[in-house]
Amino acid sequence: DTVKETLGFQAEVKQLLHLMIHSLYSNKEIFLRELVSNASDALDKLRFRALADDILYEGDESLRIRIDYDKDAGTVTISDNGIGMDREEVIANLGTIAKSGTAEFLANLSGDQKKDAGLIGQFGVGFYSGFIVADRVTVLTRKAGMPADAGVKWESAGDGEFTLEPQTQDSRGTTIVLHLKSEEKEFADAWRLKSLVKKYSDHIAFPVEMPVEKSPADDEEDKTERSADEAVAYESVNAATALWTLPKSEISDDEYKSFYKHISHDFSDPLTWSHNKVEGKLEYTSLLYLPTRAPFDLYNREAPRGLKLYVQRVFIMDDAEQFLPLYLRFAKGVVDSNDLSLNVSRELLQNDKAVESMRGGLTKRILDMLTKLAKDNKDDEYSKFWKEFGRVLKEGPAEDYANREKIAKLLRFSSTHDDSGAESVTLDDYLERARSEQKKIYYVTAESYKAGLHSPHIEIFRKKGIEVLVMHDRIDEWMMSHLNEYAEHTFQDVAKGKLDLGDVETEEDKKKQEEVEKQVEPLLTRIKDVLKDDVEAVRVTHRLTDSPACLVVAEHDMGVQMRKIMEAAGQ
Ligand code: ADP
Ligand code: MG
Repeated sequence: DTVKETLGFQAEVKQLLHLMIHSLYSNKEIFLRELVSNASDALDKLRFRALADDILYEGDESLRIRIDYDKDAGTVTISDNGIGMDREEVIANLGTIAKSGTAEFLANLSGDQKKDAGLIGQFGVGFYSGFIVADRVTVLTRKAGMPADAGVKWESAGDGEFTLEPQTQDSRGTTIVLHLKSEEKEFADAWRLKSLVKKYSDHIAFPVEMPVEKSPADDEEDKTERSADEAVAYESVNAATALWTLPKSEISDDEYKSFYKHISHDFSDPLTWSHNKVEGKLEYTSLLYLPTRAPFDLYNREAPRGLKLYVQRVFIMDDAEQFLPLYLRFAKGVVDSNDLSLNVSRELLQNDKAVESMRGGLTKRILDMLTKLAKDNKDDEYSKFWKEFGRVLKEGPAEDYANREKIAKLLRFSSTHDDSGAESVTLDDYLERARSEQKKIYYVTAESYKAGLHSPHIEIFRKKGIEVLVMHDRIDEWMMSHLNEYAEHTFQDVAKGKLDLGDVETEEDKKKQEEVEKQVEPLLTRIKDVLKDDVEAVRVTHRLTDSPACLVVAEHDMGVQMRKIMEAAGQ
């Protein structure tokens, strides 16, 4: 006799289910991609674990995914002979959402279905997407290597609770039965399912099989000649070759896009991609993507990042973060190495020479991809990228000293040249407009673009027609502390130290200034006497044209913005 238990979903799951069912209606067919993607992941995991312990194959090494349907019953069934789940895993994976930041993410949804649909796409819908088309979902699963009676049956109507009961299952793996809503019965159809597999899952690395369709004449024959429990014949309906192993010339844009969706958990199209085979001392293939939109957890330290790692086409791990620097964490993709050992672990990746060199190569690829995107800026694509990920890229000069010139070229700034305040000016733009004798790139840091524009420090620059970059993002000043120069021009914070406009001033200007300095010498001494230790120095400045005085920090002191950040952090 079986013990049936009823458990409640975690609050976040309830919320997500509700939102998904209501806002993803026009994308409902993605459920198949998500479930096939999970099945493929389960096969990958089994193959990986079986490297060390081939008992897990239980004598059946032909890994595959199957899709069955029953028009009369109104069901679609997706099954795999992958790793399967035990009871604890079922509860954790199909009852909760483990992603950190989920609660905040959900709290930020607007209730506007169109907007929310996009956001949920970035969040990743996964298993729960089955409930877009089904009013009941049954999961039958048994973990590889466990006895038949370790099977688990999970069932839910997506309304807040699920039931669990033990069951006996001879073959390992997971079967998901979608009991279609009455208005979604059209999915229980061979043609419809096949075209969805072709569209979304053609190049996952495993065969997706469907029952061989019989002509009506065969059907008649069937009834008389075959016994009822005779096995159904299956045929593969997808290409079943890992996309990255194919030559570029054989891959269409649509195939690249759907593969992105399979690996990224994002359902918008990628912005661009780069597919490369490296041969020589190291051999590896990489397929790298830049997303169109930032995921909800881009700034979350624990958020998964990195590439999907394969070794000789065998899946090894997700989120292999050793292959990319942190400031490129928005990139997604696959790297398949011929040099690493199949036994490689996260720990081993950390001090591996080959990995280090691959990381250098992959970093270069992404920077090149960005450089090209910026150069073409077709349909404003680079501007879109900058809006979503510019802040992350700003971490680059600090993290990746060797590539700082390349990164600097990719940066976009607000400046006194463009009144909109948008971050649109490149350092090359700036230098192109600068006078040939100008040796510095001037910038001001401020709380906002407006504040920067009205800073007394830039009065003299305005008067002389010298462009000043306006840094108004919190991270800017910190970033600038790691960028000393660009194209042989040093950076100069206009609020720091003694302002030397020597290179852009005439002899006459200089003479005049020296005279003024002499004249006010006694005044300076008096001011210094009054302010005493509150200031380091009192100087005559030529940087002001309208304001009578301004505060300046010493050349090597922390900037004003940085001080504010430190103060806010309680330092
Ligand atoms: P994700 O795939 O992003 O992890 P999902 O919601 O799609 O999120 O799936 C949640 C988890 O449920 C998976 O990480 C996996 O552990 C488990 N899971 C889902 N489907 C299967 C399956 N067919 N076989 C084994 N485990 C599965
Ligand atoms: Mg998934």
